[in-house]
Amino acid sequence: MEIVASAARAVGATSPSESPPPIPRPEPVDGAEDWRVEMRRAIRDGRELIRHLGLDSLPLATGGVERFPVFVPRPFLSRIRPGDPLDPLLLQVLPAPAEDLTADGFTNDPVGDLAARQRSGLLQKYAGRALLIVTGNCAVHCRYCFRREFPYASDRAWPSDWPATLEHLAADRSIDEVLLSGGDPLTLADDRLLPLLDDLETIGHLRRIRIHTRLPIMIPNRVTQALVERLDRGPTAKTIVIHANHARELDDSVRDALLRLARVATLLNQSVLLRGINDSAQALAELSERLLDCRTLPYYLHRLDRVVGASAFEVPEAEGIALVAELRRRLPGYAVPRFVREEPGEPHKTPIA
Ligand SMILES: *Cc1c(COP(=O)(O)O)cnc(C)c1O
Ligand code: SF4
Repeated sequence: MEIVASAARAVGATSPSESPPPIPRPEPVDGAEDWRVEMRRAIRDGRELIRHLGLDSLPLATGGVERFPVFVPRPFLSRIRPGDPLDPLLLQVLPAPAEDLTADGFTNDPVGDLAARQRSGLLQKYAGRALLIVTGNCAVHCRYCFRREFPYASDRAWPSDWPATLEHLAADRSIDEVLLSGGDPLTLADDRLLPLLDDLETIGHLRRIRIHTRLPIMIPNRVTQALVERLDRGPTAKTIVIHANHARELDDSVRDALLRLARVATLLNQSVLLRGINDSAQALAELSERLLDCRTLPYYLHRLDRVVGASAFEVPEAEGIALVAELRRRLPGYAVPRFVREEPGEPHKTPIA
C-alpha cells in the first residue's frame, strides 16, 4: 500500500498543466510476439553468460566457439543458479575449456546424417519416417549437440527446396510420418511454420507429423494460441518431442506451456545422458517424475553422440545401463526412457540392454 501511495504522490507532483507530453509507448507487445523478443535478447557471448551468473573468473573454451557460438535465452538463464559453476543447466550451455580437447572417435558427423540425406534437408534412415531440416536455427546452443557441425546453411528442405521436398514426400507412399527438425522448427514464426503444416497435410498418405523442439523449454511463450489451435486441426496426429535433460529445466512456466500442448498433441521427451548433468539415478528419476507432471512421457535416453568437442560429456554405456536398471526399480514402466544409441546404417535406434 505504501508503495502505491508514494507512487501516486510522485505522479501527482507534476501538475496537469506542466506535465510533459506522454512518451509514445511502443505498441504493447502482442503475446504472440513475446518469444521473438526473447530470441533477440538471448545471451550470445560466454563472458556475458558467466558475468550474469556471478562466475566471471570461470575459464572458457577458445576454439570452435565461433563456429558454434553461445546462445542462451533469458527464460532458461533465469533457471540457472547464480554462483554455481556446476549447475546442471549451465553445463549444457557453457563453452567449457574441455570443448577444445580432441578425443579418439569423436567426429564431425557421428550419426551418419550426410549418408542418410535423400535430397536437400531430407534425411531418411528409418522405415516410414522422413526427417526434414527446415531451419538451422535453434533456441539454445547445447554444447554436446551432435548437429553442431552439420552444414545447415547449405542443406535445408525449406524454403528454396520446399516444392521439390513436397513432391518427394507425395511420391513416396511408404512415408507416413514427417519429422520436422533442424535446428529447431519452432524458431520459424507461426506465419512461416503453420503454412508448412498446411502443405504437408495436403499429402493424403501422411498420418503423423512430429516436431522435435526445445523451444517450449527455452522460451515457453513460443507455445502461442495460434500454434496450439493449428496443431489441433488437420488430418494428421501430432507429436511433439521436447528435449529436457534435467528436472529443473521444467519450471512452472514450462509446465503451463506443455499442459497447453498436451491437449492437442502427444508429448514425448528425449534426453541425452550427460556427465555432471543427469548421470545419477536420482537426477533421472526426478526428471521422469517432473515430465509426468507435465504430461510428457520419457521416450529416449540417448547415449552421447560422439561429436568433436563433446567428449567431456560422455558417460560409459555400462554406467548408463546400471542407471536405467535403477530407474526400473524406482518408477512405473512408462516413466523409464529407452536407453539407445544411434549407429550409422542401422534401421532403427539401437537399444542398449
Ligand atoms: C531418430 C530419427 C528418427 C526418429 O526415430 P524414432 O525411433 O521413430 O523416434 C527419424 N529419422 C531420423 C533421420 C532420425 O535420426
Ligand atoms: S536444440 Fe537440439 S539441435 Fe539445437 S543445439 Fe540443442 S541439441 Fe542441437
